Amino acid sequence: MNRLMKKTISNVRALKIPRKYFCTEGVKVAGSTTGEASNEHEKKQAINKIIPQYDIAIVGGGMVGMALACFLASMPMTKQLNVAIIDSNPALASGLHIKKEDAPDPRVSTVTPASISFLQDAGAWKYVEQNRHAYFNVMQVWDYTGLGYARYNARDVNKDFLGCVAENKVLHNALLSCVKDSDFKTTIYPLRLSSMTLNTSSMSIVEENTNSVEPSSAQGHGAKLQLSDGSSLYAKLVVGADGGKSHVRELAGIKTTGWNYSQNAIICTVEHTSENVCAWQRFLPSGPIALLPIGDKFSNIVWTMSPAESNSRKSTTEEEFLKDVNYALDYGYGPRPTSGLLGTRDMFSWFKMDAAISTNEFFEIPPKVTKLASERMVFPLSLRHANSYSSKRVVLIGDAAHTVHPLAGQGVNLGFGDAFSLSRIIAEGIALGSDIGEVNLLKKYEAERRSGNIMMMAILDGFQKAYSVDFGPFNILRAAAFHGANYISPLKKSIISYASGDHKLPIFL
Ligand SMILES: Cc1cc2nc3c(=O)[nH]c(=O)nc-3n(C[C@H](O)[C@H](O)[C@H](O)COP(=O)(O)OP(=O)(O)OC[C@H]3O[C@@H](n4cnc5c(N)ncnc54)[C@H](O)[C@@H]3O)c2cc1C
Repeated sequence: MNRLMKKTISNVRALKIPRKYFCTEGVKVAGSTTGEASNEHEKKQAINKIIPQYDIAIVGGGMVGMALACFLASMPMTKQLNVAIIDSNPALASGLHIKKEDAPDPRVSTVTPASISFLQDAGAWKYVEQNRHAYFNVMQVWDYTGLGYARYNARDVNKDFLGCVAENKVLHNALLSCVKDSDFKTTIYPLRLSSMTLNTSSMSIVEENTNSVEPSSAQGHGAKLQLSDGSSLYAKLVVGADGGKSHVRELAGIKTTGWNYSQNAIICTVEHTSENVCAWQRFLPSGPIALLPIGDKFSNIVWTMSPAESNSRKSTTEEEFLKDVNYALDYGYGPRPTSGLLGTRDMFSWFKMDAAISTNEFFEIPPKVTKLASERMVFPLSLRHANSYSSKRVVLIGDAAHTVHPLAGQGVNLGFGDAFSLSRIIAEGIALGSDIGEVNLLKKYEAERRSGNIMMMAILDGFQKAYSVDFGPFNILRAAAFHGANYISPLKKSIISYASGDHKLPIFL
């Protein structure tokens, strides 16, 4: 039997199935065949017999999956793990070559100070700073009724900035570069997950060299993943980081709770005549419109509206679209709010007793949009939450576990929080000599993340619903909430901290 195993292994070595390497020895791309090997049939037969084994298989190498790889690469306890990343996105296999002067991409994310700190500690943030990004220290939120507004300044919480906006491709590339530049052993499979068989018997992490090629008969541990080219691999732990329509979640039989909003978001990059340094959000009857600085003279628009409106605005002329955007950001749908400090008497003047201890600022008009700088993209919006984040050998992170409305730019930040928490729990498990696929260990991660994620989802859903109602008395209540958020100093501070990724809830909750 032993001789048979050795022979099989040496046969495979003789096959020299080529693997193309990135710039470090740590990251490799599996299965890139360049004709070096013998005939296809023979090769397939060998692959069928010899199944590589990993500690962790991350299914989905989007921002959250790559963040997990990055966190694992940065911790002494986890950096020697053998990790497979499965994703057919070509950017993963070939790497992106981003230049600062490239046209901006319409997909961007607002990254909170808490996420920035995780990414700095893991060594990924420096790569973001090499490309286009924009820190902002002021945020203005108001609504179409003109009854109220709130302006938040980083000074209110003794911070330098409230967040940073970067293109998703910049964030993704930074995480990939961070993993590539480490000596973390990662194999990228430029494929999709097709099926998964779970073997639930226990395994210890202290086994040596876990990606060594072994005949399948010697295995039978962990989860077996079948990939889109027919090949397979084993992993002690499968991480579903494969987005809102997670196949891992489905294959693990984990159900979700949620609903589709009858809203789409239209996103694009626009240009101004001068640089925008503030994050703006105006709530309109059909949904919020956000104007987010992304560096240089560019901003990103995230505009929520009905599916019918989004379809027509996607195809209207540039001139018509820009007119609609400027109308939605300023004088359209209703008046501008009066500045709180102009001395005007308004129905909320009683709130301002506290103004002396808060940093209050005048209402400002957002900068005019002068040019469309990217294509317009439309996304349907939904709320979805996995009923469980873990089962034996399977754990979910990012959008695979929860999809939220983008109105507060929290989605990927929740995902980064998941990835950070999971990496720490895995490190703890290794320190204790536990099986990293063991459900008791994975439930610790779930316990750490679930309630905070649910609370954020509830707040975002509440906002979405509060702004779907256009009814006189309700509008006044909403405006009162704006005033409270602007003029009551402790409330204002706790809202800023919560939106920045602090775990403590705002004091009104
Ligand atoms: C309009 C809009 C604006 C947003 N703005 C913000 C913002 O400002 N701030 C913020 O924090 N969040 C924002 N979000 C949310 C954010 O984009 C998501 O939360 C984030 O992209 C989720 O990342 P992820 O890695 O979990 O999933 P995804 O980005 O969906 O990545 C999943 C990956 O899995 C891969 N995959 C899928 N199926 C398989 C399979 N079977 N096998 C292998 N691989 C597979 C895919 O190729 C993909 O690379 C916004 C969302 C939208 C729609």
